[in-house]
Amino acid sequence: MFTAYSLYDIVEMKKPHPCKERTKRFQIVMTGADIKIRCLGCGNLILMPRADFNERVRRVLESPGRPLPFPRQD
Ligand SMILES: [Zn+2]
Repeated sequence: MFTAYSLYDIVEMKKPHPCKERTKRFQIVMTGADIKIRCLGCGNLILMPRADFNERVRRVLESPGRPLPFPRQD
């Protein structure tokens, strides 16, 4: 299944990040041949090939159009 996404979209991944927060919410912070995403639980950056990302992403949750401040204040 193809999921359309763009820079700064908040996405839900199929598997949670193995950190304390166990969140599936990540923000896309770089796009190109590789995709860089930030875990919205712990803030870690993860770089992966676009093909891997396409397989691991489930859906787009929000499109804020800008980087989220991190750590989040809410
Ligand atoms: Zn994390």
